[in-house]
Amino acid sequence: MRFEDPAPVDCEYCHYRSLLPVRQLLRLQATCPNCHQSLEPTGLQMRAQLDDWHGYLLLIELVLEVEQETGTQISDEELDGIHTLRQLARTLESKLPNSMDRTTQAIEIVQRAALSTSQRDVIDVDANFLDAMKPNRWA
Ligand SMILES: [Zn+2]
Repeated sequence: MRFEDPAPVDCEYCHYRSLLPVRQLLRLQATCPNCHQSLEPTGLQMRAQLDDWHGYLLLIELVLEVEQETGTQISDEELDGIHTLRQLARTLESKLPNSMDRTTQAIEIVQRAALSTSQRDVIDVDANFLDAMKPNRWA
């Protein structure tokens, strides 16, 4: 997904429409050329849209890895409403053979996939997984 660049922005204070560089908006540095109010809310909204999209891609990447490792299949419907690694582990758990300690196993598998995908050393399985895997994305 990409934003039109420069992006058309309607100022919420004076309703002036301007074209502004996407980078400036995403850095929360853009101001309305007419009334000079900060356009931070617009930037935050754009960040949220990008997060939604990147979060989705990240989840797909993770699921592919988990499916490959376990030989299981997770459907698109099952992915709806998954926001944390623990939730993904719970979905996986029900698909693992009954003989194993499935809860522990599922968490370990998901964690391993997340660590290798995100290239981080530790991962918070209860955080929104985009925050867990890419915590510094807007720093
Ligand atoms: Zn304005």
